[in-house]
Formats: sequence, structure tokens, C-alpha cells
Amino acid sequence: MSGNFAVGKQLQLGYERVVAVRPSDVSIPQGKLTAIIGPNGSGKSTLLHALGGLIEPQSGELSVLGGTALASRRRVSYVMQSVTYPEGVPLSVREVVHMGRYPSTGWFGRFRAGDRHRVEEVMERLNVTALARRHLDELSGGQRQRVYVAQGMAQDHDVLLLDEPLTGLDIVSARIIDEIIHDETHAGRTVVHTTHDLDEARAADHVVLMAGRVVAYGPPAQVLTEANLREAYNLGELHEPGGIFIDSPREEC
Ligand code: ADP
Ligand code: MG
Repeated sequence: MSGNFAVGKQLQLGYERVVAVRPSDVSIPQGKLTAIIGPNGSGKSTLLHALGGLIEPQSGELSVLGGTALASRRRVSYVMQSVTYPEGVPLSVREVVHMGRYPSTGWFGRFRAGDRHRVEEVMERLNVTALARRHLDELSGGQRQRVYVAQGMAQDHDVLLLDEPLTGLDIVSARIIDEIIHDETHAGRTVVHTTHDLDEARAADHVVLMAGRVVAYGPPAQVLTEANLREAYNLGELHEPGGIFIDSPREEC
């Protein structure tokens, strides 16, 4: 299916008086895998918040699934980078994944067999079934990330947004989540993820390169050029042509 999941025109994003993304044009295709890449603080999460309908544009236009991001929220599942649940509320893995059904059932909607089945199914896919009764704070970072992705997958959705789903993960967790990302795209759904990793960005169908604005967007080969990367990462002359290295996920967090 062709067409765009989202189109921004002179889109400016931020928080109160902070401008995080200066007026930018951008588009994100439907039914494809898009990677948003850029240095720390370049506005990647802010763009995802806008696509997920959590913040409204400060100015310019953003159309999501042909309407506003807010109106599309039910069809868009957003796995945020840092989710914090109230302390002292010991939620089990299964309860957290169940919460992913709320946008589909309604907060006070009844859980039916189909909802329970979906929860068990996504827990299997993310390989967290054995952890179902454990509390979130008893899990490793990779296990917890798999639970959050399972929560996102539990929601009925056409679009999956993932904020740095692979950053800092153990190999097993990264592989499982990477498979989900590709399976979702093969199933015709739109996937947008943020990353620090140039190889991950190259593996996507479409890339948005950010640096406090959208520097470039389009097919990876067209966007991830040395000139664009140098601009986004504020790099001087490179001594080794073609040997650009920008990734350093451990500095993050
Ligand atoms: P990235 O995800 O690329 O690291 P962010 O989108 O999180 O970048 O942040 C972009 C800019 O917006 C940064 O300067 C950051 O400090 C600022 N910012 C992010 N969240 C908030 C917030 N809730 N309130 C004010 N400023 C914020
Ligand atoms: Mg971020």
C-alpha cells in the first residue's frame, strides 16, 4: 500500500517555550519501516510524541492517517522510551501487557476471551510468558523492554511507534524486538522507530535525519550521505572518507 502515514509541513514542535524541532517538512510512508536518527536532543522523541498525538504542533501542520494525530491515536501504538509506573504499585508483567488492551477495550471495558488470548499471544511472541507473574522491577533492562513492546503489540493498531527499542539491549532481546519490527512491516503495518545506530537506519525503508529540525528525509541512501551526517552531527572534516562512526549508545541514558 502506498501513501503517507504522516506529513508535516513547516512543522514546529516543542514544550511550552522550548522549541525542540524548528519548522520542518517531513513525510513518513505508510506500511513501511522508518528510522528516525540523530544525535541526543535532536528531537527524535519529540517527533514521535507528535506522531503519537501526545503533543500538538506549536505551528505548521501535521497530518497523521489523513487527520490529526490526536484523532488517530487509537490506531497508533506507541512504545515510549521511558515509562514510569507509580512506585509502590507492584505491577506484574501480565498486568502491564494487559494495559495495552485498554485503548482497544476502553478503560472500563470488559476483558473478553479474545483480549486474554491476545495478551497471551503477544507475551509468547516477546518471550515473556515465563515472566508473567514477575514484577517489572525484578526484570533486566532487556526483559523490561520486551514487556513494553508486548504491551504495544497488545493494542489493536495499524502503526507501531518505538522509541529507541534496541538501545543498550542484550543480543537476545534485541533480536526478538528486531524480528517484531520486521514482522510488523511484512504484515503491512507502519513502523517508526528512533535509533542511534547507522546500520539500523540503513536497514529501514525510509529515514528521517534530525538535528533540532529535519535535516533530510527519504530513502536511506539518499539521506545518510556524508554531507548530511556531517551536518547533523556537527562533524568537521573527516580524515577517513567513508569511515563515519557516530554511534555511541552507552553515552545515552
Ligand atoms: P532526542 O529524543 O533526539 O534525544 P528529544 O526529542 O527528547 O531529543 O529532545 C529534544 C529537545 O527538547 C531537547 O533539547 C530536550 O531537552 C527538549 N525536551 C524534551 N522533552 C522536554 C520537555 N518535556 N520539556 C521541555 N523540553 C524538553
Ligand atoms: Mg529520545
